[in-house]
Amino acid sequence: MNRTIAVVGSGPGGMYAAQGLLDKDPDCRVDVIERLPSPFGLIRGGVAPDHQKTKRVSKAYERTLGHDRVRYLGNVEVGRDVSIPELLEIYDAVVLAYGAPHDNRLGVDGEDLPNVFGSNAFVGWYNGHPDFKDLNPDLDVDAAVIIGVGNVALDVARVLAKTSSEMSVTDLVPYAADAAHASPITDVHMLGRRGPVEASFTNVELREMGELENAAPVMNPDHLPGRIVADYMSDRDLRLREKNIETMRSFLDVSPEGKSKKVHFGFYASPVEILGRNRVEGVRVERTTVDSKGKVHGTGETYDIPCQLVITCIGSRAFPIDNLPFNDKWGIVENEDGKVSDRIYAVGWLKRGASGTIGTNKNDSLEVVDRIVAEYDAGGRAGIGGIDTLLAERGIRIVSFADWQVIDRLEVEAAPEGAPRRKFVSPAEMIAALDNSRNG
Ligand SMILES: Cc1cc2nc3c(=O)[nH]c(=O)nc-3n(C[C@H](O)[C@H](O)[C@H](O)COP(=O)(O)OP(=O)(O)OC[C@H]3O[C@@H](n4cnc5c(N)ncnc54)[C@H](O)[C@@H]3O)c2cc1C
Repeated sequence: MNRTIAVVGSGPGGMYAAQGLLDKDPDCRVDVIERLPSPFGLIRGGVAPDHQKTKRVSKAYERTLGHDRVRYLGNVEVGRDVSIPELLEIYDAVVLAYGAPHDNRLGVDGEDLPNVFGSNAFVGWYNGHPDFKDLNPDLDVDAAVIIGVGNVALDVARVLAKTSSEMSVTDLVPYAADAAHASPITDVHMLGRRGPVEASFTNVELREMGELENAAPVMNPDHLPGRIVADYMSDRDLRLREKNIETMRSFLDVSPEGKSKKVHFGFYASPVEILGRNRVEGVRVERTTVDSKGKVHGTGETYDIPCQLVITCIGSRAFPIDNLPFNDKWGIVENEDGKVSDRIYAVGWLKRGASGTIGTNKNDSLEVVDRIVAEYDAGGRAGIGGIDTLLAERGIRIVSFADWQVIDRLEVEAAPEGAPRRKFVSPAEMIAALDNSRNG
């Protein structure tokens, strides 16, 4: 019997699940349902605009969407346009892959002041994600504090520190490029509660900070250990961290001369308050120590960093749709190795939480696919025709894969010299451009 499966979300988790289903069940048909007209989740809306090589993974996802047993139903939001119980009536299984898009809260006073943003919002803004295109951060600032010491923090720091010529070969959206390149910012502070050994940078991304045209990294040499003592780390982790320490040590030799911006690596620094009355004016930080088990201890000693912009890069969480069971502590849909309940499965960040690389999603989704295929029931549901009828009755405009290919081509054709594309930033803009192109 031919099974039909709905995959909800077209980010890496969903796309690896869709391809896995095609491979493991040669008779199944898969509908990938995505709330935006544009596919591929954080590949488009999260991965840094100056990391175009990373974004090329979407070529493989395009092949999946172009498969004759797959359909892309873009511009359809589950929970708004169609419910999960309705999907269960139509499909034999539902794979939820809608990510973890809500910023974690820092939990300190002043967090809600104007010009304090979570990384999902800020990154979404400069990447042209429709939800954040109107965020309008004020970049007319001297200094910014980025809270967090991982790759997302580095992404944000680069966008604030790179020159317009460095960014000209990227798809940074024009409104963000205008704001970033007109910004008088001179100091970007990254803060980590623990030390450089615990920072979760990957080395390639970290090294970039020593190679910026107009910005120099600033390290406190006292923070760099001669020898790493961290009982709680595996040998592999220790080797990776040693490489990072070596890179950070090399930053001590990067001359700030001729560079107007500085990126400060602030370790052992726990933000305890965002300061300001009507907008952010600084961050109060408590100095910390870290014991050999990696545990952080506050010292009670505080100092203030003046700044007018704060971006927290401290991870994100999912949310439940249609009363799905939810694990509030972990910010994920409750699941047991990907199984949520009868015929409902979860993959990607919705399943595991917001951690790991794009590649981490692959094996994870494939394991869940094995389970789905092994647990198929008798089947015989309405299938693909069912969703078409329902969405047509509701007047939902579906953006198909062929439609997306037109929008994609229009973006690429509109790219300024050297840039990969010029993004549309709202669904309405995408659909209008699509219709104009078809009618013209
Ligand atoms: C800022 C940032 C930068 C990153 N950079 C890198 C990097 O350089 N390299 C790397 O390896 N990893 C990177 N990652 C991690 C990587 O992006 C994730 O591992 C991956 O995107 C998680 O995939 P996902 O499918 O679970 O979620 P997502 O990619 O978030 O995809 C979820 C999809 O579901 C859709 N959706 C949401 N709600 C609904 C709904 N109700 N109905 C239908 N669809 C819905 C969304 O629009 C989205 O398309 C980065 C992450 C972030 C946040």
